[in-house]
Amino acid sequence: MKKSNTWRRSLAPSRLDLRRLILALTIASALIPFINTFYAGYLVQRQQLIDTTLEGHHAYATKLAKSTDDFLQSALQQLAYSAQLMASHMKEPGYLTQEAHRLRLQTKSFNSVTIIDPTGYVLATSPETLQIKGKTLQSAGVVETLTKRGPVVSQPYLSTAGNYIVFISQPIFSTDGQYLGAVGGSVYLKEDNILDTLLGSHFYQDGTYVYVVDKNKHIIYHPDSQRVGDRVINNDVINSVIKGESGAATVFNSKGVEMLAGYAIIPVAGWGIVAQRPKATTLAPLNKLMRAVLYKTLPIALVMLVVIWWSARRIASPLRQLANGAHDMDKPETAQNIQAVKSWYFESHELKKAMLKGLNRLQRNITKLREDVNTDPLTGLGNRRHLEAAVTAFQTQELSFSVIAIDIDHFKRINDSFGHDTGDEVLTQLAHTMREVSRVGDVACRVGGEEFLLLLPNTPLDAAANAAERLRQLVEDMALADVGHITISLGVAHWPDSDMDIKAVFQQADAMLYAAKRSGRNRVMVSEAGSMPHKT
Ligand code: GH3
Ligand code: MG
Ligand code: MG
Repeated sequence: MKKSNTWRRSLAPSRLDLRRLILALTIASALIPFINTFYAGYLVQRQQLIDTTLEGHHAYATKLAKSTDDFLQSALQQLAYSAQLMASHMKEPGYLTQEAHRLRLQTKSFNSVTIIDPTGYVLATSPETLQIKGKTLQSAGVVETLTKRGPVVSQPYLSTAGNYIVFISQPIFSTDGQYLGAVGGSVYLKEDNILDTLLGSHFYQDGTYVYVVDKNKHIIYHPDSQRVGDRVINNDVINSVIKGESGAATVFNSKGVEMLAGYAIIPVAGWGIVAQRPKATTLAPLNKLMRAVLYKTLPIALVMLVVIWWSARRIASPLRQLANGAHDMDKPETAQNIQAVKSWYFESHELKKAMLKGLNRLQRNITKLREDVNTDPLTGLGNRRHLEAAVTAFQTQELSFSVIAIDIDHFKRINDSFGHDTGDEVLTQLAHTMREVSRVGDVACRVGGEEFLLLLPNTPLDAAANAAERLRQLVEDMALADVGHITISLGVAHWPDSDMDIKAVFQQADAMLYAAKRSGRNRVMVSEAGSMPHKT
């Protein structure tokens, strides 16, 4: 387990890896459309909410303007009717006072009622506590009334009695058309008045409120009565409405709060009415909704993220392991590690198969190369390198062995008579015969042009001598095409019987071979055990 882990980690992800790529790609492809949809949805709903609110406030302002206009019209009508009645009673203070009371009390249109003669002299008032009876008034509303001699809805002004008022009046004419004065009702803008009844009940919890301005941008009505009388400048909505326009717009109020406002004109007075609500308050439910949507989607998104992460791991894992394998191709455990990779999908499976195939071929080639390096290409016997490896192996295993050195007699003549190729053929035949004589574990080598060696492990000198004799006999008896018969000379020695030193043992075998040559060839000469003790 531990081993496979280190193997998995052996290829440090110094650059982007597949798992992260898949992860990034899937998350991006899930997240971007989600954010896009979410944001687009938000924007569309937001705009819709704003548009609906503006439209609603416009309709609302229009309706309130209509009601207010209706009220003013009916107030003027009421006064006109009363003026008609009073025309024949102008000299009767009792009658006038009673009529003033009736006008004030019958409907709640006016805070006070005043009847004046053409000079502004007050003939009667209701309530009488006003204490202006018998005085001559010169306030703006009275002057306007007396000058105009027609129906008037005055601009707001500060009255003689100290109230901030709007004066609504009708002229009084005698039947023969003589101007007798005027009857007027006052609306006290800073106290409870008819406008409160008309507009005030529309102050909502949701932040919507209504206010009214006159032609000169003075506030006539506002839910915050402190604001009444203020002049509002630099307000686009007010600039529009006093020009007689109606509509809706987004504006900043005097406190810098962004408002969604609808506005309309009250024709009879030339006043503007504005219904508005803070934009933030309007949008608050939408923000809440979007948050709720987010919270509802979040758990699913998280689950999705985990699934994506897990899938990315699963997809990347076989490729990562195979990549590690490719990186460690030269290590012996790689084949096993690649074999263990769970290649659960097509591409990884094919890659794994191809890699195992390649690895197998590679290892076969390496083995073959290793063999080739130790093999004589002509005869297929071991070469000098192979011999050295065998001797080292015997030595480490402390295996005693005999050495037979072999040389073909008068080989030059064969070459000379039949050509080099036939000579090679003879060498191959001899190698074949040597193999025949060898037992399992024996080592047969070609160590020179036509010189061979046989190592016989666990074989004493006399047994080796017998084997050598058997080989000599076989070669002598062998009939070769073209060449006919050949002979060989052989020298035999033993380690450690002939000498403790291995080099010396080989020299002895060689010496015995040359002794055989000198003695007439085609014979075996055996080193006497201990005959040439190694000098130490
Ligand atoms: P001796 O009985 O004394 O061994 O006589 P010889 O002619 O065999 O003499 P020697 O062993 O010195 O001759 C070696 C000859 O072997 C020389 C060379 O022509 C021949 N020879 C060496 N290597 C090869 C080879 O790979 N192929 C062939 N065809 N001939 C080789
Ligand atoms: Mg030779
Ligand atoms: Mg020879």
